[in-house]
Amino acid sequence: MDCIFCGIVDRSLPAELLHEGEHIVAFRDITPQAPTHVLIVPRQHIDSVAELEGAHGEMLSEMILAANTIAQQEGIGDAGYRLVFNCGRAAGQSVDHVHLHLLGGRKLGWPPG
Ligand code: AMP
Repeated sequence: MDCIFCGIVDRSLPAELLHEGEHIVAFRDITPQAPTHVLIVPRQHIDSVAELEGAHGEMLSEMILAANTIAQQEGIGDAGYRLVFNCGRAAGQSVDHVHLHLLGGRKLGWPPG
């Protein structure tokens, strides 16, 4: 399978890694949309959030807790930040490996485009 994020997880592709956990890896987005833009991805290849099941609960919890920890490390924990899963093409998903966006460091508009 030809998956960019699997390549980052197995270190065959480069990325600025910020955090590694039992089930997850976090790295900076290559095209940041905010001063802090980090992606938190599962080590396991799963195409989309739509495919998640109850058995993925521990992994999902690790993703969100890692995002909170990284937000603090990035100095945006108090100001506020956004966590986003894009699910499917209409929502803007371009990489078919589940990923949580952590965005912050500027005022974020709502609703999103
Ligand atoms: P999405 O559009 O929600 O699927 O998000 C995919 C994200 O992956 C985008 O924000 C891209 O900038 C980012 N991205 C794509 N390739 C890489 C890469 N090699 N390293 C880091 N981030 C990437």
